[in-house]
Parts: sequence; C-alpha cells; structure tokens
Amino acid sequence: MIFFWAETPDGWGIPGTHGPWAEDELDGYVQSGVYLIRGQGENMLIDTGNWTLPEYNNGMGNFLVELLDKEKNDLKYIVITHFHYDHTGNAKMLKERYGAMVVCHPADKPIIEDPLIVTREENITRFGMTPEEVVADFNLAEGESLGLSDPSIIEKYWNFPVEVDVEVENEDILDVGGLKIEVVHLPGHCPGHIGLWNAHTGSLYSGDLLHYPTPLGPYPIGDAKAHWQSIQRCLEIKPQLLLEGHGLSAYSEASSRRRLLHMEQQQKDTRDRIQFVLAREKKPVTTQELVPEVMPVKSDLDYPVSTGIGERRCYAECCIHTHLLWLIEQGKVERVVEDGRVGFTSTA
Ligand SMILES: [Zn+2]
Repeated sequence: MIFFWAETPDGWGIPGTHGPWAEDELDGYVQSGVYLIRGQGENMLIDTGNWTLPEYNNGMGNFLVELLDKEKNDLKYIVITHFHYDHTGNAKMLKERYGAMVVCHPADKPIIEDPLIVTREENITRFGMTPEEVVADFNLAEGESLGLSDPSIIEKYWNFPVEVDVEVENEDILDVGGLKIEVVHLPGHCPGHIGLWNAHTGSLYSGDLLHYPTPLGPYPIGDAKAHWQSIQRCLEIKPQLLLEGHGLSAYSEASSRRRLLHMEQQQKDTRDRIQFVLAREKKPVTTQELVPEVMPVKSDLDYPVSTGIGERRCYAECCIHTHLLWLIEQGKVERVVEDGRVGFTSTA
C-alpha cells in the first residue's frame, strides 16, 4: 500500500479514501484522513486511520509513525472525530508510543473505549431506547438482525479499544502550544461526531460530515436531522479551508462552501426521492422497498450485509429510515402498520 501526505497550512494531512470493495475495509486498505496541527512545541493529531491486519505490514499505522517520528514537537493530543474504526484504528498504538492524550466527545467515548459495546443492549439503552424500538420499522423476520454489530467481525477487525483521557463538548477549546483549537459538535453521522476549528488559519476539520451516505447507523446512532443542523453550523462558520475525513482538502472559502452545500443537496435529494416514491405508490412502502429507488447507485460503503437469514443493504436502509423519521416529524410522511408490517406513506 502506498500512502501519500501533503503539507497543509496547519501541518500536514494524509488523504483518506475508502476502499472500493467491502473486503478493503477488512484487510486494512481503507483509511481515513489524518491531520497534524503544529503549535509552539506541541502538536495535535486528528484521527488515526484504520488499523491494519498484521499480514499487511505496510499499513497506515507504520506510515503515521514514520511521519510523527520526524516531528520536533511533542504530540499532545490525539483527537478522534468519531468512533468509527477507520478513524480510531491506530489510536492506542500512537498513544503508547508518543504519550499523547486521547480526546473525544462523551457520546462516542463508550464505543472508543470498548468497541464490542455495539453488540450489547447498553449501547442503545444509554440513549433511552430499547434495541426492539430501534429495529421496529425494519420488518425483520424471526431470527433476522440488521447485521451491523456482528461480534465476530468486530472482534477480528474493529476491536481496538483505547482509553480516553479528555472528553470535549461543543465550543470547548484545546490548547496546542498556544493555538486555540475549538471543538465543534457535529452529530448526525454518529452522536459524538466532532469537528475541529482552527480560527488562526480558518481551517475546519470536518471528520465524516461530508460522507455520503450519512447516517450509516439506525437512529439514535444516526440522525438525519442532526446531520442537517451540523451542516448549517459549518456553513455559519464560513471556513476558509475544509479538511475532510474522506476527501481532498478545500483551500478556499468558496470551495469549502460549495462542498457543504453539495452535501446539503445530497441529503435533500435523498428525501425528495423518498417522497417521490411514497407519493406515487398508493400503498405503504417499507424501508427495504425504498432502497433500490432512493439509493439506486451503491456507494463503497453501501454493500449488502448478512442479516443472519439473507442479505440487505442495511446501511442504505438505515440512512433512508433516519430521513423517514425526520419527514414524519415534519408531518410529510406517516408510519402505517398493516398486518404487522410497517410501511410509510406520503401525507401530501
Ligand atoms: Zn470514516
């Protein structure tokens, strides 16, 4: 695997693309953008990329060590924008090597410290819901699950717990050698998703805010309405630079704004397609039936997942469902239960 890095106005960045196939996620060839911010005598790292299986000895972790060993400043903070494994994979190894403090939002902390919590009920009940309520609208068959929390997969590929040293909330300031870096809470992709704002250079580190499809997990882990509000928050900040978790950096206010507006439009388009299908059908439509028309093009992170019985495009289905919940809240869509089957209709 060949990695690339580039100087940025704040330090350096490694662009983080997702692999084009599901297998890429598992063998370590998927990564997230990793960024370094240099202050006076101290540095901050934002995200840590994907952990790489031992048989791939030239993974992201080794590349990060190569770059970080050259730094003269101490590594003070490792900020994790959210709990997804492609952002947390090397955090423990880097924390131990450089003695840095790991920073995240309290809502994602339990998963960062114990990734296997996603296989347990407490990961849902901590948000005041039961697992049954979360999947109630998906019409799962007996013995079927959404397939997003398979313990064997998580244990083998995603279980890299790291102890969190600092919890941060919206507007908290992290001092990096005199630089004041502000935390911007940007939920939606997941509850504890944060961005980092460096007002000195006008740089906004936006994590996976611009990742499509978003959200990938069911409500309350994913939240389309919260995500929309997070986009609005970033537009208000008017960043000069936008440094994404999975894309190349934008180095002008116009470009940063265009990307934020593009994501806003993609989310609006998703809801428009849902409403188009619901308005056309005269009967209630299920989340599963909406998938092929609302997301006819499969993206790299929208592959069929084994549900224990068959396969479903669970990520797309969860995304569509969180949009449905917001449309219901707006009075544009209704949930209908017929013969024990949950469907959705347009109120228009
Ligand atoms: Zn990511």
